Amino acid sequence: MMEDSPLVAAAPVLVPMPAERPYTYAVPAGMRVVPGSIVRVPLGPRQVAGIVWDGAVEKVDARKLRPIEQVFDCPPIDRAMRRFVDWLAQYTLSAPGMVARMLLRAPEAFDPEPWIEGLQRTLAMPDRMTDARMRVLDTAEGGLAWTRSGLAHAAGVSSTVIDGLKAQGVFETVMIPPRPVVAAPDPDYARPSLMSDQSDAAAMLRANVAAGAFGVTLLDGVTGSGKTEVYFEAVAAALDRGSQVLILLPEIALTHAFLERFQERFGAKPAEWHSDLPPRMRERVWRQVAEGNVRVVAGARSALFLPFKELGLIVVDEEHDPAYKQEDRVFYNARDMAVVRGHIGGFPVVLASATPSVESRVNAQQGRYGRAVLSGRFAEAALPALKTIDMRRAPPARGGFLSPVLLGHMRQTLERKEQSLLFLNRRGYAPLTLCRVCGHRFGCPVCSAWLVEHRFRGQLVCHHCGHNEKRPEACPECGTLDHLVACGPGVERIAEEVVTHFPDARTIVLSSDLMGGVRRLRLELEAIAKGEADIVIGTQLVAKGHNFPDMTLVGVVDADLGLANGDPRAAERTFQLLSQVTGRAGRTGKKSLGLLQTFQPDHPVMLAIVSGDAEAFYEREIAERERAALPPFGRLAGVIVSAVTRAEAEGHARGLRRAAPEATDLFVLGPAEAPLSLLGGRHRFRLLIQGEKRADMQGFIRAMLANGPKQRGSVRVQVDIDPQSFL
Ligand code: ADP
Ligand code: ZN
Repeated sequence: MMEDSPLVAAAPVLVPMPAERPYTYAVPAGMRVVPGSIVRVPLGPRQVAGIVWDGAVEKVDARKLRPIEQVFDCPPIDRAMRRFVDWLAQYTLSAPGMVARMLLRAPEAFDPEPWIEGLQRTLAMPDRMTDARMRVLDTAEGGLAWTRSGLAHAAGVSSTVIDGLKAQGVFETVMIPPRPVVAAPDPDYARPSLMSDQSDAAAMLRANVAAGAFGVTLLDGVTGSGKTEVYFEAVAAALDRGSQVLILLPEIALTHAFLERFQERFGAKPAEWHSDLPPRMRERVWRQVAEGNVRVVAGARSALFLPFKELGLIVVDEEHDPAYKQEDRVFYNARDMAVVRGHIGGFPVVLASATPSVESRVNAQQGRYGRAVLSGRFAEAALPALKTIDMRRAPPARGGFLSPVLLGHMRQTLERKEQSLLFLNRRGYAPLTLCRVCGHRFGCPVCSAWLVEHRFRGQLVCHHCGHNEKRPEACPECGTLDHLVACGPGVERIAEEVVTHFPDARTIVLSSDLMGGVRRLRLELEAIAKGEADIVIGTQLVAKGHNFPDMTLVGVVDADLGLANGDPRAAERTFQLLSQVTGRAGRTGKKSLGLLQTFQPDHPVMLAIVSGDAEAFYEREIAERERAALPPFGRLAGVIVSAVTRAEAEGHARGLRRAAPEATDLFVLGPAEAPLSLLGGRHRFRLLIQGEKRADMQGFIRAMLANGPKQRGSVRVQVDIDPQSFL
């Protein structure tokens, strides 16, 4: 059979779908592809973009091969990136095709950006000179090409003046290359003068960049100590070497202030990359990163999959932030994958945080990561004094949630014309609504979760699936009118309480529910920074990275909230979040105060925050993790089985459990019904696999999946290596 099949060249192509392996396509005569080429191939009835992959082609009958349709005129995906895709797929137990899909999310970018029509000065002179014409000629002197509107704008004339000159042959049409999305950053634009520990840290980072080899440095310093300033020096060093730089930020849509700050240091903004970017901009950024025209990207976790031409440094800011974990299709932690990317690419990685993750602290302690420490706040800015308010001793008035102690400090802050921030990590008005007569509770019809009342919108909303309904007047169970009660506080309810106490204060509520989305949020944040609000009530959106000069009081409404959920990182998370939110106070030298409302003032997390003794807290946490063989001393993976019926999900999960291979260094816990047992109409069961640090977690799970029951019907299995969420 093989002998008489026509000889064709063939290539493996990774297509963006759950394929375990590249598919083989014929390469038509005259077409040239290399590993990394982005190509268009037929896939069933469709055409998709795929990436020519490495490795030999399987033996297949050439007559069965479908041909590659087109090679895009686009720089090939480089070898480091291809290895990164394979590595990540292997580590997360995802199909390589699904990882490749994350690289291919800017389809229009595979074709070169079109050149644009421009105008260039000829030797001809206009028939008669006017002031306007004179200005145009002056502006266009030097022979550079201009766009019509650009020239009109620069010369301060209307476009018709330009058209007139063109009609007389004073300008001719030329094609000009697409303009860069951002100007080139200048490493020497505005060098700061660093304080002594800052310059030590900067020297360490610069040396790493200069060495041009893989290495991870944990940059550890309280909020306001100048971490950003210091890692900018690493960025400058990388730019000096001709490398591209990626700065990962956890909440990119809110980091307008960061972009401006970068511009002050480097004279130009970095390119942004996140899900709110308009599609056209996305494509241009993708393309210009691939061509090396964009030198610095500030982006969300998905920026890891941009096709950098010569990446030489990754900075992960707020490295401890849970937002770096993606829990959808491909489950990965961008902080960890940044380290892998640096390892494969042979360049340094900087992890910055005021409250590093326990994992990174241990890596630094054990010498796998370097550590640069900034010990105090920059200049006159002092850290806020921190105190707990014991809610058992100073309870709020009936129906309220704010202790008289906190209210007293808020009043004083108002009198000083300074700002207060109340932090509560709960959106909406109340987390639960019930009927006072029959006890009926409003739950989501498709999730095992209570509906959260959003009073501004008059709705009850599920925060897991988005289900919403109008808040009824009568109880749907017993029919009684006007007896529904809101239980517990959300930010809207705290705002209501604040207004009753301080009716004349300018109060702002900030959460992701804000109408008008990110743009509006940014405006509100700017307004707060300019002092246009007295009291801000917000969720974790306000905890991150903002610099509010007049904010001198931070009140945490419910400091115990995060401790209630039983996952192994609850204490660490609470410590990080509360440190971060109280760190919003006193950024510019004014005396400031952070108050934590708590029922457990003696809890180690509260003690650590109040005493400022982070070291003791980390020591305890680390010892605890080591004792329980939890990460980073042991390994964890979650397997989530979901299905339309409970029986299907449970049956499949039990089947997987039975299929677990024999192992001495790994064991399976469960299956147990997930805490979030119903999500979007799917019943969920969880298996938790725990193992020793060196255990082959991936091999174990792979064997379990291979030997387990075949996935049938509505059953879906998700693997979560190094889980952050246990819901
Ligand atoms: P962090 O990132 O640790 O929270 P930042 O880098 O944001 O700290 O620094 C806090 C503030 O102090 C910023 O406004 C920053 O511009 C300023 N700052 C820090 N170090 C210096 C320095 N050496 N020279 C001038 N300003 C500095
Ligand atoms: Zn729901």
